[in-house]
Amino acid sequence: MNTNAFEALDSGTIAAALRAPARFSLALLDSCASTSTLLLDRAQQGAPSGSVVVCERQTAGRGRRGRGWLSAPGDSLTFSLLWRFPDGTPPLAGLSLAVGVAVARTLEGLGAAGVRLKWPNDIFADGAKLGGILVETLSTGGRHAAVIGIGLNVRLPCEIAAAIDAPAGALDALMPFAPSRNLLLAGLLDGLAAMLDEFARDGFAGLIGEWLARNAHAGQIVRIQAEGAAPVEGCCVGVDADGALLLETDTGLRRIVSGEVSLRLP
Ligand code: ATP
Repeated sequence: MNTNAFEALDSGTIAAALRAPARFSLALLDSCASTSTLLLDRAQQGAPSGSVVVCERQTAGRGRRGRGWLSAPGDSLTFSLLWRFPDGTPPLAGLSLAVGVAVARTLEGLGAAGVRLKWPNDIFADGAKLGGILVETLSTGGRHAAVIGIGLNVRLPCEIAAAIDAPAGALDALMPFAPSRNLLLAGLLDGLAAMLDEFARDGFAGLIGEWLARNAHAGQIVRIQAEGAAPVEGCCVGVDADGALLLETDTGLRRIVSGEVSLRLP
């Protein structure tokens, strides 16, 4: 179903649309500070794998390194998923990029054209950001878990666009109509579960090709900025199996890990 009309988030509709409902346990909230903060807290208290928090009004949505994520009730989709990986899963390097592949697959499956991935964690189209991913890992004694937070602009009201300090876009520009948020969430959760099974088996290595095919900056000169360090410029030539960015610079090939750096156009 595609619609432009306001459609409330609804647990029953989401559950009915899931291909694998038994894998998820959904909490739908009207309002919270951050779905990821809440789910991290629940994870520490033993919440099971597949726990999902989806919220209509996120008042303090988080991006990386203290940055904020803005959303608009009715027009955005903001949710977090807790995933506990099977024993023997290797460290979760590249998981943010793998989540990007899962989101792109789902959006394209719903008919979105031109979805691109910006290293390390953004969903882009036409040079504007329409979604953000925040992966926070919790690993104890060799067992890995992650809270995967996703924010997507289904539509982008002017007041939200005006408050964002970088080019922003929305899904409704990539499709004839904005998708139903309930069906979008169900599709994303099923897509994430399928990708996370692949990731547990093969890591990001099995998904590199799909990430590269959607690389927003393939072959472009980009600048890598890190706080307190000189920026590094080079040509974006790809990523490796750990999700590190490969940059061809004047001094040779550099491998950039995502932790404290941001990719920008010079
Ligand atoms: P990096 O490249 O380091 O990830 P980033 O600017 O993309 O940098 P994130 O932490 O991924 O940082 O996302 C937070 C940023 O996203 C905010 O600082 C703001 O620029 C932008 N932003 C916030 N809300 C939205 C939104 N609804 N749509 C598009 N962009 C947004």
